[in-house]
Amino acid sequence: MNDLSATERCVKCGLCLPHCPTFALTANEADSPRGRISLMQMLEQPASDWSPGLFQHLDRCLMCHACEAMCPSQVPFGHLMDSARQRLEAHRQRSWRQRLAFAAGMGLLTSGGGRKLAAAGLYSLQRLRLERVPGLPASLRRWLQLVPRPTPDTPRPATPAIAASRGPVNLFTGCTGDLLDKATRQAVIDLLGRLGYSVTMAARQGCCGALHQHAGQPGKARQLARANGQAFADSPGPILAFASGCCAHLQNYAQLYPETQAFTERVHDVTSFLAAQGPAGLNFRPRPEKVALQMPCTQRNQLGAEPVSELLSWIPQLQVTPINPEGGCCGAAGSYMLTQPQMSDRLREAMVEKIVATGARVLLTTNIGCSLQLGAGLRQKGVEMALMHPVTLLAAQLA
Ligand code: SF4
Ligand code: SF4
Repeated sequence: MNDLSATERCVKCGLCLPHCPTFALTANEADSPRGRISLMQMLEQPASDWSPGLFQHLDRCLMCHACEAMCPSQVPFGHLMDSARQRLEAHRQRSWRQRLAFAAGMGLLTSGGGRKLAAAGLYSLQRLRLERVPGLPASLRRWLQLVPRPTPDTPRPATPAIAASRGPVNLFTGCTGDLLDKATRQAVIDLLGRLGYSVTMAARQGCCGALHQHAGQPGKARQLARANGQAFADSPGPILAFASGCCAHLQNYAQLYPETQAFTERVHDVTSFLAAQGPAGLNFRPRPEKVALQMPCTQRNQLGAEPVSELLSWIPQLQVTPINPEGGCCGAAGSYMLTQPQMSDRLREAMVEKIVATGARVLLTTNIGCSLQLGAGLRQKGVEMALMHPVTLLAAQLA
């Protein structure tokens, strides 16, 4: 797993450099894909020979896959970075506080009860406006800023189907869908119900494991992947994921953990699945409004951006303004928004400015991490905007 031999495929052409968000920020070769590949090659040497700053520059990578998507030599950058971080893990020197925070954060993701408890605690602290209290630990303040205002769980009655039964589909909600993204979950259920699908959500499903995989913990990530494979084994039909970050990792399961091949073959991004159905029979009310569309790195570079634009084109009179058609990352990048606060804030600031400049009152994004990150940035600026997944807007316009 932690084989770095594919670094040899890099011909150092530098074509990836203009597409790398961290290189755009620092203009430092060590923060570029090419520079990071050279640092990975250094990992083959004894640790005593590693250059100072090696950890910092490899940790600053967003894992956005922008370099991989356009590399003419097809360097598998994402897998290489996973391998590099796995090697680094054995050499990290964390204080007991950092170890505790890391273990608690990763542990919470994998425990349904723990997640609910943590969210309830954060919401309570948020209601007390504690993030404004001086002297609060920086990491807790950051959590409080990122967590959105709670939304009530108000399931609507089933949407009447317009088509004959098309069979079952499964919804992958992972570790955040039930807690932080109920609106998207309900919208997907509404749209699929209208199309004639019966939707089920496997009770024993859990975290997709992307954060563990990218943080140098492939063993735990594999354990989570196997558990998800088992959770969906008895529910027939496709498995749809609506958070682009989770979906990209689920679609990568078989390559990382071959025993999950059967599960992986059933996974679809919800936007691709709906776009493939076509709008036939679905009627959407016009919405003569400008909306801003942020394309997450995982949607653009791994899943594909076209289905998102296709779905939005079904809403008559909607004016979609893309925020980052040329690329660029909002700085969420999984746990990056917590572990690299300075870089993350700089990336967010640049994107928030572009969003505000559109004058739109609605921001669309397909990833919950980007939604949390940009929502916090907009609140900090005092900008009121509705943030939602494109399918939530689509469901809201169902006639
Ligand atoms: S990663 Fe690819 S695009 Fe970037 S320098 Fe290497 S070969 Fe060129
Ligand atoms: S994955 Fe993204 S941040 Fe990392 S080197 Fe490639 S382009 Fe840069």
